[in-house]
Amino acid sequence: MKTVVIDITTEYDRALTEAKRLINQGEVVGIPTETVYGLAANAFCEDAVKKIFVAKGRPSDNPLIVHIAKLEDLEPLVAEIPEKVKIMAEKFWPAALTMIMKKSDKVSDVVSGNLDTVAVRMPKSDYARAIIEACGCPLAAPSANLSGSPSPTNAKYVFNDMNGRIPLIIDGGNCQIGVESTVISFAEDPPRLLRPGGVTLEEMTAVIGEIVVDDAVLNKLEEGAVASSPGMKYKHYAPTADITIIKSNFDTFKSICENENATALCFDGENENLSCSSVTYGDKDDGYSQSARLFDALRELDEKGATKVYARCPETKGMGLAVYNRLIRAAGFKIKVM
Ligand code: AMP
Ligand code: MG
Repeated sequence: MKTVVIDITTEYDRALTEAKRLINQGEVVGIPTETVYGLAANAFCEDAVKKIFVAKGRPSDNPLIVHIAKLEDLEPLVAEIPEKVKIMAEKFWPAALTMIMKKSDKVSDVVSGNLDTVAVRMPKSDYARAIIEACGCPLAAPSANLSGSPSPTNAKYVFNDMNGRIPLIIDGGNCQIGVESTVISFAEDPPRLLRPGGVTLEEMTAVIGEIVVDDAVLNKLEEGAVASSPGMKYKHYAPTADITIIKSNFDTFKSICENENATALCFDGENENLSCSSVTYGDKDDGYSQSARLFDALRELDEKGATKVYARCPETKGMGLAVYNRLIRAAGFKIKVM
């Protein structure tokens, strides 16, 4: 299969027409969103959704997020809309926020990974919503990487993973947020945070009060434990390099990197004070700048051929929680407090 790339920033109408044509034919299309690129198919077409799992090599029990363009699109997907979801939708959507609810009969078990719930998001990206609108159906879409690779933050990375596997990639430039959406379940009360992302725990708590943070957000799942979110039990992207997070001040970090001749994964500007090799991942005090850089930085470590990496530790509040959640997985949960 030949994979065509259309730049929606320069060929808007053609991008929408082609995305619509292929999705309505039951094909899978790579699309830009503000979080990461998605692999999209008609959420109401089982055969199309199955192609997503094949293209990604994704285990079939790992459910997909259903993307909608407007609030009316939510109702047919769910058994009922909990009051707190209405409040959250009103306050945040469109956003990097995925909400899980009891699903309706219209949602196939292929989409929900056989769960009785469905995850729904209204993306903030105008391109993503325009594509959904053009197709005229909700789009089931996971991140557009091969399972086990980092989520792609630009069309070039989607092409690297998906060339020959899907007919079309819509290029919308770099993703602003750079990590996957916040996932929160309203299938229970108080709601449970399953994955931190672009809408922070603090922002949500200010609106709906108590939120339980699932154990898997900060810790490794125990062997054999049942994951609230199936995705959390799968191995996430870890570069070839062996990464350890160092929780310390910069001077201690500097000496351990230099003494052991490791590669430093550090904050912007810190590299200038290091005599060892380094990759930076954003501003020390800005979680959004870190999330925008993290997956690219992990790819750069591999491109450099780094074998032993020490990483600076992000804050675990605000947007830092989403960064920390991805970084501890990349580090295989290895943290040294010094
Ligand atoms: P991705 O599409 O790669 O961003 O992954 C979607 C994430 O949402 C995965 O971690 C899934 O396990 C999770 N997810 C999707 N639907 C549900 C659901 N119904 N219940 C729990 N987690 C879900
Ligand atoms: Mg993913």
